[in-house]
Amino acid sequence: MCPDPFVDRPADSRKADVLIVGAGPGGCAAAYDLAIRGARVLLLDRTEFPRRKICAGGLTVKAVRALRYPIDPVIRKTVSSLSISCRMRNRRQLSGVDPVCHMVERSAFDHYCLRQTMAAGVRFAVVGRIHHVAETVRGVSLVTDGGRIRCRFLIGADGVHSRVRQLTGRFPEIRAGLGVEGIVESIPTRERCLGFDFSRVPGGYGWVFPKAGHLNVGLYTSRADVRITRQDLLDYASARIGGPLPMHVAGFHLGLGGWRYRPGHGRILLVGDAAGLVDPLLGEGVYHAVISGQQAASAVSEALETGGDACRSYARRLLPVRRDLLFSRLASAVFYSLPAAGHLLLASPAAGSPLMDGFACGMPLPDIFFNPHRFIKKIWLRNKIL
Ligand SMILES: Cc1cc2nc3c(=O)[nH]c(=O)nc-3n(C[C@H](O)[C@H](O)[C@H](O)COP(=O)(O)OP(=O)(O)OC[C@H]3O[C@@H](n4cnc5c(N)ncnc54)[C@H](O)[C@@H]3O)c2cc1C
Repeated sequence: MCPDPFVDRPADSRKADVLIVGAGPGGCAAAYDLAIRGARVLLLDRTEFPRRKICAGGLTVKAVRALRYPIDPVIRKTVSSLSISCRMRNRRQLSGVDPVCHMVERSAFDHYCLRQTMAAGVRFAVVGRIHHVAETVRGVSLVTDGGRIRCRFLIGADGVHSRVRQLTGRFPEIRAGLGVEGIVESIPTRERCLGFDFSRVPGGYGWVFPKAGHLNVGLYTSRADVRITRQDLLDYASARIGGPLPMHVAGFHLGLGGWRYRPGHGRILLVGDAAGLVDPLLGEGVYHAVISGQQAASAVSEALETGGDACRSYARRLLPVRRDLLFSRLASAVFYSLPAAGHLLLASPAAGSPLMDGFACGMPLPDIFFNPHRFIKKIWLRNKIL
């Protein structure tokens, strides 16, 4: 892929209707939708693809359904059951008939999404450091190592440490969770489901996710004051699965706090981790990155057509996401302060069965427990289709 596109290029290559910084799931989702609606989109990332992305690679059914194209070529395993424990004891299995999660490797998944996005007509380029962002009534300009780029709208999809967010001062209330992961090459045969171990980390959990040829093992916390070290991960892996120690251990932050994100007004929108849209309960971020990218694309294309305020329109479209995040924030506060009780509840058929059915139908957590009408309709539809 081309290196820096803005050096020694004709002036028109430095312009786009929409500039998107960050080619992860959020940026690609926004770029794809804008391109198929006819917008000139320039998608920038600081690295070439494929690149490593620290992530467990668990895509829920709702995340896969939200994508505009099938992702079968990059699915490494499909999982229909979960196993949960508290303090590494009382392991219970929640089994379902239908898939609840599709496992991918993020480097392959992200590269695949980028290729689909480029095939839809999006230009992609690697960009150097971004120094300055300025918004006027007519558009936005971005100063990078390679020069100035002008666009009518800017979407910041550049992850939890978003440069666009820092330079524009939007959403200072972002909070960071933390995930540390490693790879165990040989799979003990008993690991067939997604494993969650609550109480291993304050405000989070340990996980063991099976993939085609290895296990992904990790620790997650939603709390900014909790540290997770490499040794914590090694200790967890050794207690949980024994055998070979995890390799390629690495950690990264997750963008939280998006229930407070208000896009305001104007031409600069944040999506995905840049806007703190990770679900704090489970640390799932790909779904909201995709949904927010698509909502940002709808808001921007409406503004391109009508001249309206893209941020206002985006704010309205983002309300269901912020509602789900607020619910998840409250649920995680209760769950992680009483993990033993939470574990007992999840292990009971009264909560476990609807949870598995809801996940398999691709429903967000609040809808599973607080929207009986929608829940029953989805289950009925699924049974009818089967
Ligand atoms: C250890 C761990 C495990 C996780 N496991 C899961 C999971 O199993 N399932 C799940 O749904 N979520 C998981 N998440 C969360 C998930 O990875 C993120 O929520 C998701 O990737 C967010 O997508 P995004 O597009 O907003 O940002 P990202 O995927 O972070 O993409 C941002 C892109 O912006 C680029 N970028 C950054 N800065 C700049 C810059 N200055 N200029 C240009 N480009 C830039 C980056 O190179 C990157 O390509 C996990 C996170 C961690 C840390």
